[in-house]
Amino acid sequence: MDDPNCIFCKIVAGKIPCRKAHEDGEVMAFHDIRPQAPVHVLVIPKKHIATLYDAAPADEALLGRMLALAPSIARAQGATDGFRVIVNTGRVGNQEVQHIHLHVIGGPDPLGRMLPRKEP
Ligand code: AMP
Ligand code: ZN
Repeated sequence: MDDPNCIFCKIVAGKIPCRKAHEDGEVMAFHDIRPQAPVHVLVIPKKHIATLYDAAPADEALLGRMLALAPSIARAQGATDGFRVIVNTGRVGNQEVQHIHLHVIGGPDPLGRMLPRKEP
């Protein structure tokens, strides 16, 4: 396991159960435990990278694969008419789990605005 204190590393290692949506040699996807929409899947690299800030140039292909997997994962879960990918990063991004992940969010109905609009 890459980081024994990391909850997503524990999921990769099979020490914490998850509802799996995809797995291959480098990437895993599973349903978010507190879904924000009918489809809410997290796509993670199997290797521990804490945040997008911590991704190295050598991780480019891995990050690309995660993003490239998002549409097929979304479609397989029933999000066939659009979805949203979010990568919360760091304190300002409100990142709760310090293992990089893409949120793939969708469902039958249009999502709300990405962020609440601030009045001018
Ligand atoms: P973030 O705020 O971007 O770090 O999002 C972390 C996400 O991980 C949240 O949406 C949580 O609901 C989700 N989460 C935390 N623990 C688990 C878990 N054991 N299985 C699935 N999702 C989880
Ligand atoms: Zn981890």
